[in-house]
Amino acid sequence: MSTFKAPKGTYDLLPPDSATYLAVREAIAAPLRNSGYGYVETPGFENVELFARGVGESTDIVNKEMYSFTTRGGDQLALRPEGTASVLRAALEANLHKAGNLPVKLWYSGSYYRYERPQKGRYRHFSQVGAEAIGAEDPALDAELIILADQAYRSLGLSQFRILLNSLGDKECRPVYRAALQDFLRGLDLDEDTRRRIDINPLRVLDDKRDDVQKQLVGAPLLRDYLCDACKAYHEQVRELLTAAGVVYEDDPKLVRGLDYYTRTTFEFVHDGLGSQSAVGGGGRYDGLSEMIGGPALPSVGWALGVDRTVLALQAEGVALDLPAATSVFAVPLGEEARRVLFAKVTEVRKAGVAADFSYGGKGLKAAMKAANRSGARFAIVAGERDLAEGVVQLKDMESGEQEAVAVDEIVAVLQGKLG
Ligand code: AMP
Repeated sequence: MSTFKAPKGTYDLLPPDSATYLAVREAIAAPLRNSGYGYVETPGFENVELFARGVGESTDIVNKEMYSFTTRGGDQLALRPEGTASVLRAALEANLHKAGNLPVKLWYSGSYYRYERPQKGRYRHFSQVGAEAIGAEDPALDAELIILADQAYRSLGLSQFRILLNSLGDKECRPVYRAALQDFLRGLDLDEDTRRRIDINPLRVLDDKRDDVQKQLVGAPLLRDYLCDACKAYHEQVRELLTAAGVVYEDDPKLVRGLDYYTRTTFEFVHDGLGSQSAVGGGGRYDGLSEMIGGPALPSVGWALGVDRTVLALQAEGVALDLPAATSVFAVPLGEEARRVLFAKVTEVRKAGVAADFSYGGKGLKAAMKAANRSGARFAIVAGERDLAEGVVQLKDMESGEQEAVAVDEIVAVLQGKLG
């Protein structure tokens, strides 16, 4: 062990478990790639103001959890706490929305940083795969994103998740609701911090997890009853499209989520095997965000799914992904001449597209075969001086234990045939 440990709230991804993380990222991205979303990558840090404006000054994410710092040059930056603001910033900066092909559909995958109190499923460095569809107001687009997330989770073999769905209204109906909610909340017995929240962002009070607060919230006015006709019709269409697609969801009139920018469709994917950090992903429509960060009106919708929590959900459901062995062929040379010949063969096998590894460090037969076993390889090729004198290598099937001599010149083709 070295003197150093991974910082608090972080952990390292190491083989073999890291293969599951990669597979989860891939599985979430696959339906997006298949649906017209192009890959976008933005810097790990941005001007702090982007998040202050884009995510919201009243949110915990910006207020308490952001890693912000001043550079030597005097720039005020922050490690990105989420993806949407950065992706929208990048799309606007490159004028992607002016190319005449709306919506601009983008997907991303990367690390995010929040200075949170660490616990299982809640880390200071975590990983998300996300998608944004920028510049179109169409309930089918909202439905598409929810369907694709559902498909991603199902393709991983997950089933114990639920989709919570709500509409947060728009700039017509939300202010009316906001005022009614504020009236209601001001009559409750709440602490100082929460009372302040009533003024800044009353909807977030609905999200308070404390029992004594939740008890008082029974009977609170619900946005559902304040939606304007346009929002109601929009939401109804999203619901119908999901139902037609066979996606099961639950209406959750109290779902508000922790970011300020959401309008209309809001959703969260929760997994019932995860305890208190049960949200595996979430998203929604953010029609006002572009203007909030100085862009034109661009109604948009997106989501981000947490890779860390999706892996925990797989564990909770006891799902083991069917991952191909990292190595298919393991070469075990006995002696100097064999080392030279087999090393060349391994290079050839790899070029032919077969995953192969080699026994390094001059191990004896026993230790080398142990390494071959541990690699998970289906076949070992073993060769000593005598084999080479006869122009053969020994091909060992690691499953059956059977061994046969194969001509050195034919080994690549034989392996390709067997593994093809
Ligand atoms: P949010 O941007 O808060 O809606 O987060 C979207 C998803 O990212 C959540 O549903 C989680 O799966 C994941 N996530 C957010 N914060 C964390 C964290 N601190 N640790 C691990 N995963 C997180």
